[in-house]
Amino acid sequence: MDDRKREWLKQLPKIDELLLDLEKKGFLDRAPRPLVKETCRSTVENWRRKIMAWKEGERGFSPPSTAGLAEEIILSIEGLHTCRLRRVINATGVILHTNLGRAPLAASALDRIIEVSRGYSNLEFDLEKGERGLRYDHVRDIICRLTGAEDALVVNNNAAAVLLVLNTLALGGEAIVSRGELIEIGGEFRIPEVMERSGARLREVGATNRTRLKDYQKAIGADTRLLMKVHTSNFRIIGFTEEVDLKSLVALGHEHGIPVMNDLGSGCMIDLGLHGLQREPTVEDVVAAGVDVATFSGDKLLGGPQAGIIIGKATILEKIRKNPLNRALRIDKLTLAALEATMIHYLNPERARKDLRVLKALTEPLDGVAARAKKLLRKLKRANLEGIRFSLKEGMSAAGGGSLPGQEIPTMLVVMTPLLMSAVRLEEKLRLLEIPIIARIAAADVLMDMRTVEEDEFRFIPEGLKTVTSAAPPSESLR
Ligand SMILES: *Cc1c(COP(=O)(O)O)cnc(C)c1O
Repeated sequence: MDDRKREWLKQLPKIDELLLDLEKKGFLDRAPRPLVKETCRSTVENWRRKIMAWKEGERGFSPPSTAGLAEEIILSIEGLHTCRLRRVINATGVILHTNLGRAPLAASALDRIIEVSRGYSNLEFDLEKGERGLRYDHVRDIICRLTGAEDALVVNNNAAAVLLVLNTLALGGEAIVSRGELIEIGGEFRIPEVMERSGARLREVGATNRTRLKDYQKAIGADTRLLMKVHTSNFRIIGFTEEVDLKSLVALGHEHGIPVMNDLGSGCMIDLGLHGLQREPTVEDVVAAGVDVATFSGDKLLGGPQAGIIIGKATILEKIRKNPLNRALRIDKLTLAALEATMIHYLNPERARKDLRVLKALTEPLDGVAARAKKLLRKLKRANLEGIRFSLKEGMSAAGGGSLPGQEIPTMLVVMTPLLMSAVRLEEKLRLLEIPIIARIAAADVLMDMRTVEEDEFRFIPEGLKTVTSAAPPSESLR
């Protein structure tokens, strides 16, 4: 090791010296001591590594003074006060973006979360009787009335709902599922694996592309506890295909006294066919088909908070409610408040379509999206941003989130053509903003899809682009 490195390493202060310096600055009263100590250690260690990695001829390198290090430690700890979970602008055009928080909540749902959780609530208190109540009861009635179901129960998410139903109805026995429906949703949710964890045995029937009623029929035996149908949410098999419709499956199950379950995935409450989209069976359709139990998500097409909704026959729901696993999967009060508010929107489906952002984004006519795109384009041109050329282009948005696979929705894109950096670099810089803008790259352009951007988010966009362009000196090389 050369002498210079040795000298630098010797100059690095001891942890105790740093702590003393920080104490003099009064910082030790402002943060937990173990945290400060650990940050001192890791900061010094970091500098030690930098010194060791230094190479002769590298210029502008100088190890910090004790005061400089103390500053670095304070900044690092103060940085912890910034929340890492943040709002972002979803300009990807993927409406139910699983990585971007899926369904944005309606204003009414946000209000209810604050109202219910800022103080105490009647979460498990029956106000009329003055005695203990059930948390599930707050939304049970409205879900039943909107879907026609006899009974309803809500849990943490749809994965939990599926696990709970399987565990309650098929523990130690068999559940029959078509080979065409053994799906993976992503994020480690695969029907066969969830089935295994639930304690039920999977009995696969049919072929990947074709399953007939007699395949189910032949598989029914003494161990059969459940016939299960799963919505193939995020893919489609096309061509030579055949599946058994829910009504026939229900008839078969009932003939043998075996309950029939449908994992709907998204759980659509309005007829999307009326809005130029592929028709999804609605939750109401599924109930009308006579299914014993069905499960769906709160934050997919429903447009509410993350939740799993279980609906079905009262006798079955009663068993599910009593399963001890239910306690482990239960829904919390913030979610319940938001879910109830979301459900209330469906009392007027036309209003729901406009007020719930997911439904609005799915069904908004292209005109509206294009008008928004033009407005943003004008704003961006007025902002005099150097180094990016802006234009408009038609394109396609997607439903995402395991809903409406293959459905393309016409949209308008704001095209950003960077002149002084690569599209990859621009996309990255937008992603690293304080309010990140998540856009997509297409060849030399970066695209912002206006179907998933609302007008009240515009105020962050020119500002963000200003930061992005000014932080890029003209000399920056293409990456
Ligand atoms: C999305 C989905 C799930 C999982 O739902 P989460 O709410 O994400 O837990 C389960 N089954 C199907 C068919 C789905 O589409």
